[in-house]
Amino acid sequence: MLKSEGRTEQLLAGKRALITGSTSGIGLATARALYAEGAEVILNGFGDPDEIAALTKEMDAVHSSTNLLDPAAIEGMMGEIGPVDILINNAGMQYVSPVEDFPTDKWDAILALNLTAAFHTSRLAVPAMKEAGWGRIINTASAHSLTASPFKSAYNASKHGIVGFTKTIALELAQTGVTANCISPGYVWTSLIEGQIPDTMAARGLSREEVINDVLLAKQPTKKFVQPEEIGALAVFLCREEAGNVTGANWSIDGGWTAE
Ligand code: NAD
Repeated sequence: MLKSEGRTEQLLAGKRALITGSTSGIGLATARALYAEGAEVILNGFGDPDEIAALTKEMDAVHSSTNLLDPAAIEGMMGEIGPVDILINNAGMQYVSPVEDFPTDKWDAILALNLTAAFHTSRLAVPAMKEAGWGRIINTASAHSLTASPFKSAYNASKHGIVGFTKTIALELAQTGVTANCISPGYVWTSLIEGQIPDTMAARGLSREEVINDVLLAKQPTKKFVQPEEIGALAVFLCREEAGNVTGANWSIDGGWTAE
């Protein structure tokens, strides 16, 4: 049986979705969730070429290796892939350091990827969404869009910023059939979290176990990491017709972290 057989009846049949940063972690789980509902998915991100080839095969997807730090490259990518119905701005990076030592190039890169890239993809995707009278823009923010932790100045600024950006375009697009929302996960066990453990150990003088239990999970009343698949399921909900009035919102999925 062809992979495409039976997909025309599915929730997101006929919809094209670009998911940035979808070669791993949350973006990959979201791409899989949208694909499972019938969407045509366009992957983006870096990684091992064989692993990416396996992902494109798994999801009948195309993949763009565009570096989203480069606005001109984003323009090229958006022109190449053409109109999308669903835009998930998910690619992101983190760096952990006291502000006085924070490398200025890291600050610039984090703001460029976590915030400015979403501006560029959105401004380029919106005209076709408006034309179609339907669209979904979903930005992966973070619990750090609502609250802060020390040593993450650039990340927290970028994530607070993406919420402001999302609310603004939600208002601009409110009567067009296009919604814009953020999803704000708590800690999800992905390479982004794994990668910040050594720096957090150094910045706070803690062991690996102490960082996991006393810094990361200490924030989450459930004492569990959020699963990437849980975020994919929320993204699917936001793409449903029933979510047409959900716009300008920032959806926490953080084990109760920001309830405190
Ligand atoms: P991840 O490291 O597993 O995935 C990051 C993705 O972004 C990868 O596909 C990577 O290749 C891609 N990427 C990195 N730099 C890029 C660039 N310059 N251009 C294009 N793609 C690039 O991390 P993740 O945890 O899945 O993070 C995804 C998003 O979720 C990020 O925006 C992150 O801030 C957010 N988030 C993560 C957590 C968490 O606990 N993991 C919590 C809240 C929010």
